[in-house]
Amino acid sequence: MSSNSEPAQADPGYRTLKLLPFTFCLMKVVSISVPTPFYIGPVNCYLIAEDPVTLIDTGPKTKEAFEALKDGLRRAGVRVFDIKRILLTHAHEDHCGLAKQLRDEAKDAEVLIHGWETGHRAGRLHYDEHRALLVRAGVADGEINRMRRMYEGVRQYADALEDDEHRELVDDEEIEFATGSLRVVHTPGHTPGSCSFVREADRTIFAGDCVLKRITPNPILSPDPIDPTKRFPSLAEYLVSLARVRSLSPTLIYGGHGESVTDYEELFNRYLRAIRERQAEVIKLVPKAGATAWDVAQKMFPGAADVHRFLAVSEAVAHLDLAHAENKIAVEISGEREVYRRE
Ligand SMILES: [Zn+2]
Ligand SMILES: [Zn+2]
Repeated sequence: MSSNSEPAQADPGYRTLKLLPFTFCLMKVVSISVPTPFYIGPVNCYLIAEDPVTLIDTGPKTKEAFEALKDGLRRAGVRVFDIKRILLTHAHEDHCGLAKQLRDEAKDAEVLIHGWETGHRAGRLHYDEHRALLVRAGVADGEINRMRRMYEGVRQYADALEDDEHRELVDDEEIEFATGSLRVVHTPGHTPGSCSFVREADRTIFAGDCVLKRITPNPILSPDPIDPTKRFPSLAEYLVSLARVRSLSPTLIYGGHGESVTDYEELFNRYLRAIRERQAEVIKLVPKAGATAWDVAQKMFPGAADVHRFLAVSEAVAHLDLAHAENKIAVEISGEREVYRRE
């Protein structure tokens, strides 16, 4: 059988592509998966392999994490010594733990983090402020002490950064690179000072724990950075941040854990549904006679152990706060505690 295959004719409609008047350069991004000792699993660190060589997040301060990070850098042809800048999405140990060590080894690489990330950044966990928030949420003293001991244990996974060892990121500031820049977008919620970094040219975003493919991030119970006697309205802020990310029409989001996100619109809708469903569950758990956030947390997550007991109360408080702000439940102060009531 003859193949009768003549060489393909050039498409008469085909025209030679004219050279664009500018050169569009993609930022060279290398993703490095770094192990953590935490339940969440490995953390994603991102190397921007161009001048000035920049690392977004570092991994926790463990030997295994440091080796994995160095290995990833080596494969990209970069040495620790070459790092000029470290951008931190937020101050959780799995993201910022190695920042100081890397900064020192890289001979004073610049470390940048938002000013609202006070706690772990400066090694000052504000116990009194946190304790006050937990007391208000109805957590008993013995339980608070257990949570505190647990967090003391977690602190070993990050070195504190002193004031002269970092610079504060400012919302909307441009972080310059050889082929363009990343714009800082303050995306509070998971923590008060969480930041994302946006490359406008291709609408790529590095989002830390603000956007995760398979998990709805926890809004962590935190004092308000502006008035630490108050609670940071983490879930309300988080909803604003999710909408802000949406307004950037992202094409690709590099998250702090797991795979990257190419369908943010879908994920955004999924997050919103999950938050609304959880809110409805939480409201159902508030009896007419009243309950504290801790009572609600125990009903929501009866088997929660270790760090999950703190995350459970964080989640309950976040949802109760939002439900109250939306006039769906009432709250009153009873002694030192807040009691929520369904009307
Ligand atoms: Zn985090
Ligand atoms: Zn994380």
